[in-house]
Amino acid sequence: MGGSQAPIGVLALQGDVAEHRRMLESLGAPVVEIRQCKDVTGIAGLVIPGGESTVMDKLTRIFGLYAPLRDLIAQGMPVLGTCAGMIMLADRLDDAISGQQTLGGLDVTVKRNAFGSQKESFDVALNVDDIDGGPVDVSFIRAPIVTHVGAGVRVLATLPTGEVVACEGENILALAFHPEVTGDTRLHERFLDIVAREQFQADIHCES
Ligand code: GLN
Repeated sequence: MGGSQAPIGVLALQGDVAEHRRMLESLGAPVVEIRQCKDVTGIAGLVIPGGESTVMDKLTRIFGLYAPLRDLIAQGMPVLGTCAGMIMLADRLDDAISGQQTLGGLDVTVKRNAFGSQKESFDVALNVDDIDGGPVDVSFIRAPIVTHVGAGVRVLATLPTGEVVACEGENILALAFHPEVTGDTRLHERFLDIVAREQFQADIHCES
């Protein structure tokens, strides 16, 4: 991969930014951390990490990232969202807190904190459609689930108990869990395949 390759942006306001950065760089992808609008210029795709969606939502608005990111996602920028990142990509939430917005882009409804306290965090080996080489080791940490999947969105993985925990829209890969914590690179590779296919380059105008 050449040095002129457009970087992947990792939204770096809050959450497990370093884990995603490490994973992407281990796969040869250049990374830029996104903290303000001007960081977004030229990115080929975006990763929205796990963390806390209510906080991430507030911070994207405070730092002037909400509208640019929402618009770029609507234009087809490739995005990988994990956990809180999946929540940020959902067009609808079952249980948003008062005033909570999402960036949207994926025609799904998501329920936050869908697992009770007993199962709040757990690791599983999950079968994911189109991912070769056996189940993917992933961590669920105060994870959401997808409660409604719109037309044009594909379910990629469900738990043995039936909950939808991974799905894919046109250019969006949304995961309820954290592959970046367990170190299995296959879902990040799938995202980088979407990035390579799309050849997107974010072209935006930032105020001041
Ligand atoms: N429960 C968190 C939220 O609502 C997500 C947790 C996570 O990203 N690990 O955003």
